[in-house]
Amino acid sequence: MRTLRFLFPGILVLAMSAPALGDGPVSLVRIEKGTAGLEAILKSEAVTVVQELRTCYLGRLDREETLALRRRGIRVLILDREPASKTYLLVRADSARTQEALAAKGLVVVLEPGLLLFRAAAGEAAGFLPPNVARRRLPEASITAGLRTYPGTAGSGRAAVVDVLIERLVERVSDTNLRAYVRSLTDLKTRYTYSPNSAAAASLILNHFLRQGMNAALQPVVLGGGNQTQNVVAEITGQVYPDDVVLVCAHYDSTSQSPSTLAPGADDNASGTAAVMEAARILAPYPMDFTVRFVAFGAEEQGLYGSEAYAGAMKISGERVVGVVNLDMIGYADRMPEDLDIVVNVQSDWLGEKLSLDAALYAGLSVNKTIDPSMIFSDHASFWQNGFPALIGIDDEPLMNPYYHGTGDLPGTLNYGFLGQAAKTALATVAGLGQLVKSGYPQTPSDLSGVSSFFSSFLGKRKNTYLSWPKTPGAAGYNIYRTESSHLDYQKVNDQLVKQERFSDRGVTSGEYHYYVITAVDAAGLESNFSREIEISPLPAKSGS
Ligand SMILES: [Zn+2]
Repeated sequence: MRTLRFLFPGILVLAMSAPALGDGPVSLVRIEKGTAGLEAILKSEAVTVVQELRTCYLGRLDREETLALRRRGIRVLILDREPASKTYLLVRADSARTQEALAAKGLVVVLEPGLLLFRAAAGEAAGFLPPNVARRRLPEASITAGLRTYPGTAGSGRAAVVDVLIERLVERVSDTNLRAYVRSLTDLKTRYTYSPNSAAAASLILNHFLRQGMNAALQPVVLGGGNQTQNVVAEITGQVYPDDVVLVCAHYDSTSQSPSTLAPGADDNASGTAAVMEAARILAPYPMDFTVRFVAFGAEEQGLYGSEAYAGAMKISGERVVGVVNLDMIGYADRMPEDLDIVVNVQSDWLGEKLSLDAALYAGLSVNKTIDPSMIFSDHASFWQNGFPALIGIDDEPLMNPYYHGTGDLPGTLNYGFLGQAAKTALATVAGLGQLVKSGYPQTPSDLSGVSSFFSSFLGKRKNTYLSWPKTPGAAGYNIYRTESSHLDYQKVNDQLVKQERFSDRGVTSGEYHYYVITAVDAAGLESNFSREIEISPLPAKSGS
């Protein structure tokens, strides 16, 4: 049996990287959005940004850096001084009561409506929060290097074509199976991270993956305080792009007001876990071009610990993430027909667009997409933090489930028709991105690469892009596709079949990002799946002072 590639060596320990030391005393600051080219400025000033939110970035800046940004007209607000030795939590506080209770225990800053920054005056900040309040630690590692201004993914009148293979797979999603998975998880009474039943839930999910004949394993994550949890990971290894990974994930742990004894977590998040289990059952026998991974994360409710360790390890290992579909609470319908809410950041907007199309095509489900980098209270945020495209699918954002984080979040409160539609949608998107290997068709081209050069013409700034790739066995020629929206709306560039393993795309406008894929075409005219997508940047902006 081959080695489990996805098991990073040893046990994952949460990285607690020290913030970079500036010249003077450092403050925790809020950097207001709204200035054109803000991301480029933050990069050119090389300030330490640790978190993106809807209206602002949070960073650790010294006095000189703060003044430099203010001189450029950017609003910078000091939230707390000398943050180096302090631990901050980002807390979802929908009630004024939580806010008042925390204010008595330390520093509370309302970052945005319903989103607090909390630092305990003394002791462990998490100790002051009831177990059922969503929270995560404010990250310490800088995200500045990955910052950029993305174009929006303009989305209307987008052509979508049903893939009959995917349609056939989607038909196999069974509401009966989903109900049974939810029941088996909630029968454990609790899956609270600090209860023994958390491990029981992990092995239940692992055994399900193994029964499908998949490569699967538990991945321990050290939590501190002598505790640990496990992520459960199963994989279909990509045949053409084993290091390019599509993920579908859900956290399996649960919480409530009395989590040690009863936290059934049917909607939160047996529902998402069930959809991942059903997707694994259906896709397991099918070879894919890209690696597809099915992950059940632990310790989400304590602050995304399982996914934080996992996404951080992926970044270090150099694996590429194509996209992450995180399912968290997809079974409660407060009205019918219920729509699925999804939340993306700007970088992940294309993924939201793709999933919305798939929902309509394959599941008759309407999707309500929001761009909101402040929606950080689930595992997709761990991927955002590492610069990977990710989305969350959730029944309602803001939350509508009255049983949320309570002992009443029971299987009987779910709508299995809606859960089935959400599971079908996730399956379609993951299978589409993973690309089923089609027998009888040419092999998918591997290792596409590209470089660009810029020039001025009477039409303005333009760019040439030079693509190259290795020969694909059995190919009579190739087609080249280009788009301005990652993974969407590919337009064929070449008039005639390209006979060599290279192509020049000349005179394209220079101001946008462009994305390319290619296909191989055989002598009979059959066309392969798409290659990996590559991104060609716009003309670099003039660097700052
Ligand atoms: Zn959840």
